[in-house]
Amino acid sequence: MQTNTIEVLKQLIAYPTITPQECGIYAYIKEILHDFEALEFEKEGVKNLFFYKDLSAGNMESHRSKKTHLCFAGHIDVVPPGEGWASEPFSPTIKEGFLYGRGAQDMKAGVAAFVCAIREFVDCLESQSLQTAQDSSDSTLQRFNGILSVLLTSDEEGAAIFGTKYTLECLKERDFLPHFAIVAEPTSVEKFGDMIKVGRRGSINGILRVFGKQGHVAYPKKCVNPVELIAPYLSQIAGYELDKGSAEFEPSKLVITDIRGGLEVVNVTPNDLKIMFNVRNSTQTSLEDLRQYLENLLSKIPHSLELNQSSKPFLTNKQSRIVQRIAKVLESKNGFAPKFSTSGGTSDARYFAEYGVSVVECGVCNDSIHSINERVRLSEVESLQNVFLTLLAQWNL
Ligand SMILES: [Zn+2]
Repeated sequence: MQTNTIEVLKQLIAYPTITPQECGIYAYIKEILHDFEALEFEKEGVKNLFFYKDLSAGNMESHRSKKTHLCFAGHIDVVPPGEGWASEPFSPTIKEGFLYGRGAQDMKAGVAAFVCAIREFVDCLESQSLQTAQDSSDSTLQRFNGILSVLLTSDEEGAAIFGTKYTLECLKERDFLPHFAIVAEPTSVEKFGDMIKVGRRGSINGILRVFGKQGHVAYPKKCVNPVELIAPYLSQIAGYELDKGSAEFEPSKLVITDIRGGLEVVNVTPNDLKIMFNVRNSTQTSLEDLRQYLENLLSKIPHSLELNQSSKPFLTNKQSRIVQRIAKVLESKNGFAPKFSTSGGTSDARYFAEYGVSVVECGVCNDSIHSINERVRLSEVESLQNVFLTLLAQWNL
């Protein structure tokens, strides 16, 4: 069985796992983690796989929920490749230090890195404990005292309801939620390890309607023009920052995406006006804050407001073990510390946060995700595997 990270990554890319298909990739990963217990959670055509191994020293009989539990998580699904690739998107191709293929960065590199790091770590533990048993000296590697697990989903790029979220629900029912999780999404920007994500902004979608009375442009007194109603307030809506932001978060900014009203003619005033917008919100601004702000602002004009939070913001405590450890390992290997960020769109890390799991995202650069000719630098995949291996070896220090 091949456990060289680049070889494993090539295998993973060769499975055309467009959401939510897994195409047999799970059977392949099961072979690598053959000595782990595997639980399958399937719903509505989405298959999720959870591997775990109890690496507790001594107290094997105490309940598993009492043991420290570290989980590596990721998605094996990819977005469709699109046309115009220089090489086949599902035939991994190496050229000038890069591996090309759909999912190379997002996020089969991350999956290959943690699967191979875990395989190597567990093999080391076992060969060492064998040796320890023989010469009865203290083991130095037997530091991971707890449960090590892997959560894989085939639905992150899609609706993402029956993927990680559903799997965590199932684990919660079994009283088996991890305490710490690393999602190996591509988080680096310029060079490997320059950024990790310690949270994510939420997303609120809104529709504001302003009601008037349609009429002839030549008789404005007989009309109520919704454009004139909203005009004095528009500068306090368009681009308005609902908070000042923080070290980790950009300000929560109200961004208008569409305004329309009227009949596309010059002699009729509109009956009503519709404004669509989105707020990528930090933990400082909630949906209710946004509602209150707009309702206060627009209390004098007839309107309706629909708000819908499609994902909630979260921030992992920077002092938590997972953030501290991964930052330390990255700094010691790279010679510079990673920036803690919450930028970008949503990811499955939010679900871990919702279930109270301390979660961090750490992975390779993300400059070609979802694009044509997606590629990953080979050296970054090896570095990531190495970071995860060191993290495991030092987890209980
Ligand atoms: Zn991804």
